[in-house]
Amino acid sequence: MQFEEMILGETWTIAIVPTSADKRLNDCDGFCDKTSRRILVDDFSMCDDYDLDDRVVHIRQNLRHEIVHAFMFESGLQANWQHPDFGHEETVVDWIAAQWPKMKVVIEDAEKRFMSERQNECETAFR
Ligand SMILES: [Zn+2]
Repeated sequence: MQFEEMILGETWTIAIVPTSADKRLNDCDGFCDKTSRRILVDDFSMCDDYDLDDRVVHIRQNLRHEIVHAFMFESGLQANWQHPDFGHEETVVDWIAAQWPKMKVVIEDAEKRFMSERQNECETAFR
């Protein structure tokens, strides 16, 4: 599976593929190549020793993790930020990837309520 997403104004290609699709997947569950603006995430279909209960949950978590990296790369937070070996602070990336769906619900609801309240204020002001 492959598709494109716009991340901070740049087109990134995202592919969810078997481990055999790229040798770099032998060492990780996914990666973010800032030079080609490409994200690859392992679909674990070729892992004989895969031992988690829900592969889809795992893939979605990894996908969000790599998308967070892409946002950081496009923000100028690249190789020298925090983590001496990988560049990005992996705990922060994981935290954002794990909490983002819940944060998105709260932020969208808060913005909807704020805009609705603003709309009511504007309608009241012009009566
Ligand atoms: Zn990472």
